[in-house]
Amino acid sequence: QAKAMGRGRLMFFDDSMREELLASLTLEQDLRQAVNKKEFVLNYQKIADLNSSAIIGYEALLRWQHPTKGLLTPSSFLALAEETGLIIEIENWVVASVAKQLALWDVQPELKSIFISINLSGKHIFQTKPVQQLSKLIQHHFNEPERLIIEFNEQAFNQQPERSLKNLKLLKKTGVRLALDDYGSGQSSINYLNNYPFEFIKLEQHFVRSFINNIRNWELAKSLSALGESFGFRLIAEGIESQAQLDKAIAAGCEYGQGFFISEPEAIKADKDDNGIDHCA
Ligand code: C2E
Ligand code: MG
Ligand code: MG
Ligand code: MG
Repeated sequence: QAKAMGRGRLMFFDDSMREELLASLTLEQDLRQAVNKKEFVLNYQKIADLNSSAIIGYEALLRWQHPTKGLLTPSSFLALAEETGLIIEIENWVVASVAKQLALWDVQPELKSIFISINLSGKHIFQTKPVQQLSKLIQHHFNEPERLIIEFNEQAFNQQPERSLKNLKLLKKTGVRLALDDYGSGQSSINYLNNYPFEFIKLEQHFVRSFINNIRNWELAKSLSALGESFGFRLIAEGIESQAQLDKAIAAGCEYGQGFFISEPEAIKADKDDNGIDHCA
């Protein structure tokens, strides 16, 4: 009886696995198509100076305009893009796109000093060749590379920490600025604050939203901002969704911030008026 049950379960497992596999194979085909057909778009989320409310930059967030499934966020395809290595091509497209966007903004005096921040996966920083290609791309496309910020989360450095750090330093030589994303989730090793060339530390959204009822987390953030003053990094609070959370982030010493309370990520329209600087709520 146990054997029959076991077999039954095994078959059930097989069926669902087969379905999953088929779905991921289809998605993989779709993703390859997407790279060729350029079905990706970027949504931009404002990043504000929390004290003055001025918009100082934007984070470019990847979206896939899927032919039948609609607009997909990274959670539904990023893992696959990394597994298949397609992420390298996609991210090179991201770099070229934000270069174009900065060039468009260049002709508007009020947008001349705005930066754009992009996210790169560990796949990119982990291998030397893609980093060299990326560096060339940056040198070619950016007159002012300091207006490009590149974000990595700490998982990006997990696999080959030494080589990744070496590559990160190569990347920095192009003149771009670097940010550590999602700090306050996962390991949050002090090593990244001490030995890596990050100019910005982005505090992870759940951590930021916890400040209003978790005094210890808020104290931690306050200490990080003090550390930032001597180490030379600035804090960006992510995921601010209310006035109370905004106030707490400012009180903790976060200089910059982003979140739905300030502005949601959105497509940038060609119309000039839609790109203008405005202030947070
Ligand atoms: P992230 O870099 O930490 O980006 C912030 C995420 O939080 C975005 O999700 C954004 O839409 C969302 N968000 C912003 N403000 C709020 C808020 O107030 N409340 C809540 N609940 N969410 C908020 P999104 O766009 O789905 O991106 C998810 C992650 O995908 C990003 O997290 C980033 O790690 C990754 N990602 C995005 N674009 C790229 C890319 O071009 N390459 C790579 N490798 N990863 C990317
Ligand atoms: Mg990010
Ligand atoms: Mg983040
Ligand atoms: Mg992230």
